[in-house]
Amino acid sequence: MLTLNSPVSELERVGRVLSGKLKKIGIETIEDLIFYYPFRYEDYSRLGLIAELRAGEVVTIRGRVNLIKNSRSPRKRKNITEAIVEDDSGQIKAVWFNQPWIARNIRAGDEIYLSGKVAGDLFNIYFNSPNYERVSTFAANTARLVPVYSLTEGVTNKQLRFLIKAVINLTDQIVDYLPEPLKSAEKLADLNWAVKTIHFPADKDSLSKAKRRLSFDELFFPQLWAQLIRRKLKNKQAPIIRFQQKKTQQFIANLSFTLTEDQKKAAWQIITDIGKPEPMNRLLNGDVGSGKTVVAALAAFNVVLNGYQVVFMAPTEILARQHFLTLRRWSGFNKSKLALITRSQHLIGDNNLTKKNFWSEIKNGRAEIIIGTHALIQPEADFSRVGLVVVDEQHRFGVQQRQVLKEKSTSGPHFLSLSATPIPRTLALAAYGDLDISVIRQLPKERKKVITKIVPPDKRQLAYEFIRKQIDGGRQVFVVCPLIDLSDRLGVRSVNSEFEKLDKEIFPDLSIGLIHGRLKSSEKDRAMADFSAGRIKLLVSTAVVEVGVDVPNASVMMIEGAERFGLAQLHQFRGRVGRSQYQSYCFIFSDSASQESLARLNMLTNCYDGFSLAQKDLALRGAGKIYGLEQSGFSGFKIADFSDPVLISQARSAAQKFLNDYKLKDFPALNWRLANYGFVDHLE
Ligand code: ADP
Ligand code: MG
Repeated sequence: MLTLNSPVSELERVGRVLSGKLKKIGIETIEDLIFYYPFRYEDYSRLGLIAELRAGEVVTIRGRVNLIKNSRSPRKRKNITEAIVEDDSGQIKAVWFNQPWIARNIRAGDEIYLSGKVAGDLFNIYFNSPNYERVSTFAANTARLVPVYSLTEGVTNKQLRFLIKAVINLTDQIVDYLPEPLKSAEKLADLNWAVKTIHFPADKDSLSKAKRRLSFDELFFPQLWAQLIRRKLKNKQAPIIRFQQKKTQQFIANLSFTLTEDQKKAAWQIITDIGKPEPMNRLLNGDVGSGKTVVAALAAFNVVLNGYQVVFMAPTEILARQHFLTLRRWSGFNKSKLALITRSQHLIGDNNLTKKNFWSEIKNGRAEIIIGTHALIQPEADFSRVGLVVVDEQHRFGVQQRQVLKEKSTSGPHFLSLSATPIPRTLALAAYGDLDISVIRQLPKERKKVITKIVPPDKRQLAYEFIRKQIDGGRQVFVVCPLIDLSDRLGVRSVNSEFEKLDKEIFPDLSIGLIHGRLKSSEKDRAMADFSAGRIKLLVSTAVVEVGVDVPNASVMMIEGAERFGLAQLHQFRGRVGRSQYQSYCFIFSDSASQESLARLNMLTNCYDGFSLAQKDLALRGAGKIYGLEQSGFSGFKIADFSDPVLISQARSAAQKFLNDYKLKDFPALNWRLANYGFVDHLE
């Protein structure tokens, strides 16, 4: 007997090949299949009479097949299937191309539905490749609001509808984990009804009720989780860091720049937080180059003055080293008490120690600030009195890594994570409810705007000539490409072929580097280091280059296949350049000629605010596609709409109210669902 846990391979028509493909879109069990929601609908619910059809209308007709046959097109390239369908009012022709099996699926005499847009003109109308289906009590492809799913190669909407229809009644087995009182207070539909309805809604009204229930769940669980964490933190003890006003002012006065208002505000929020006895759990969110490091350093400075250690984790060796060097430059810190740990280095001050000695010194409190990569969380790691943990680009670390770091620290240190992924406010509320958030919106004043141009194909050569001049002038260039697969059918430029082209044909005399996700991290680090040091003039890479490396000498960012990336992500690429006194440029190439995608890319040419670009992404592409969200620990948003904050705040207050009025442990199903949601405890 089929249950929600049965693998999809137990379904009729699902063999090895299809189940492999379904796996690619995350569908392994019947439950996965049922929770694979459509992302939109074709409205084929209106039934029309053939005689009354007009070209251009979207409609369903119900009729009898008079004739159906396959033929070859005159040039023999295409197989054409033609059918004549008749109802009481008249008849109409339907044609399909290269799907000869249709003439076996439906036969003369069959009663069928055809759904689609009527083609033709005033004098002659027909259906071009309509959806078709034999009339039954449960149409899945026609004569209704028809679900449209996101697909992978080799899986069609029709197949998915067939499979989901076959198991739709198993939705009855879904346990509704939301407590009755909550459901009635929030006027929510039942879960099994909602899931059934999201696939095959009876009408628009039921569809919106189903959407509301499923969206509520997506928003409610993160809020419930966040509230639990907030309550847990309130009961924990963290060191009280007293603000050292004089010394902090001195530190700031010694910087070679003036802090922006946003930096001051963020620093003040953090310093206020760590002055309290409960652990801070804060996200510092600011565009690339907005100057998060100095803000974190101000907090670290105060922690050190209060006699506690600071642990500062960065995602790559280069970044860790960069932070180490930056902190050494700032006069407030005691250089001899700054430590750096990576795979290859164990530095305290200027001394490179053995791993063993390093950790025993750290344990003895010989270092005040310990900066490092994952090497910070190896088994030997042992700290003395950690008051503050800072994690840079936190989405790059897994849950477990943060967990370990936390366990290695003394109880309840303050926690600050830095992220350059601009997160719109509604989304931040929904996804990071457990974190307090500080935002740096403005960039330092003297920063020049990166001149951004969409380069049409016929101007490509000019762009190369321009790049050549920049390199001749001593600058360096980034080239970012979307995928590494050479056999990419969609014609997306791969890094490998791009590298070959630039290296062999365009710039044969220049030293060109290559970075992609399949390289070992030591190889990546080496290429980045060569680029940093100027030994490589032009660096071709996939999106891996995005994370915070500072190469001020780079003045051109060239992005291939840009339509593949989100705006916020493109903006982050752009942030790799324009970090010095040199005027910098971002050249955007697109493989798509579609107006829509060009219009989207055009937003980059006149908008330089990562937060508004992220907001636009959210509206255009949905939460899942926004860069970093998947990795940042929460990918649970499939259906919730972030342009409408009402449901978000409703979910928030429902979670608060629930925890005030009830005990979670009295609701095992709710508890179970919460535990299975895959949350990241941002603190741990
Ligand atoms: P991010 O937020 O991307 O981590 P960084 O902290 O690396 O940015 O800062 C980028 C650069 O800007 C650094 O060289 C830093 O010293 C400099 N910087 C930071 N704040 C200011 C400021 N207020 N005015 C001028 N330069 C600044
Ligand atoms: Mg940074």
